[in-house]
Amino acid sequence: MQFPRLNLHIHSNYSDGKQSITKIIAKSLKLELNYIAITDHFTNSWKAWVSKLNNNETILSYLEEISICQKFLRAKNKSLTLLKGIEVDLESTEQFIKNHLDINEFDLILFEYLQSYESIAFVKNIIHYWKKHIINKNAFPILGLAHFDPSYFMLGNLDTLMSFLKIYNIYFEFNSSYPSFYSTKYKRFFEKLKEHEIPVAIGCDSHNLKTLDNIEEPLEMIKYYNLESNFEILIKTLDCTKEINKIRY
Ligand SMILES: [Zn+2]
Repeated sequence: MQFPRLNLHIHSNYSDGKQSITKIIAKSLKLELNYIAITDHFTNSWKAWVSKLNNNETILSYLEEISICQKFLRAKNKSLTLLKGIEVDLESTEQFIKNHLDINEFDLILFEYLQSYESIAFVKNIIHYWKKHIINKNAFPILGLAHFDPSYFMLGNLDTLMSFLKIYNIYFEFNSSYPSFYSTKYKRFFEKLKEHEIPVAIGCDSHNLKTLDNIEEPLEMIKYYNLESNFEILIKTLDCTKEINKIRY
């Protein structure tokens, strides 16, 4: 099977990326990518300085700018689908997340720094809050773990982590900026992903245009771990999001 070319982890100059959203889209079209997501940082932790997305006004203009690009791509019938994403730092406060992120506005939410069982509880709590506030249940955003480091859970109970990912339908990201996180020393972790049919995705954590299509190595590793069917689960979800957005906007 020929897989679509996707990079679901890109930063623009709304946070610590170098380029504007429109430049990222133009380059992605040239590179013939099929799915991309703009996922700027959202945080009020010690690293709050990395992002401008810390007030409702800026978040609105971020969402608006992506919406305009989504409409443009659809109007021109381009083979590129753009997702409206955000990367939520789990060291942020619960109130900050609940107050500023309207779940109805996003296609994709990445969580960064899931490193403990406490952070699993934190995410569950946020998701339950969002489920109460979603207007169209079919349009609940895709959820993923950004550059997840398996080592935190390798010594503990992997099944607890797997059932969490399964129940909440959260994907694992093969992130080309962090190849050590898909090292073969984590083979057991990847066997568990396969066994539990956890979706997997590709994200490059691009901060400049040069890394937008660093997708070959992650794809090789997905194949190496026999996770093609897990990748297909994610691709089906992306297709659904694309269809829902056609009606939505
Ligand atoms: Zn990132």
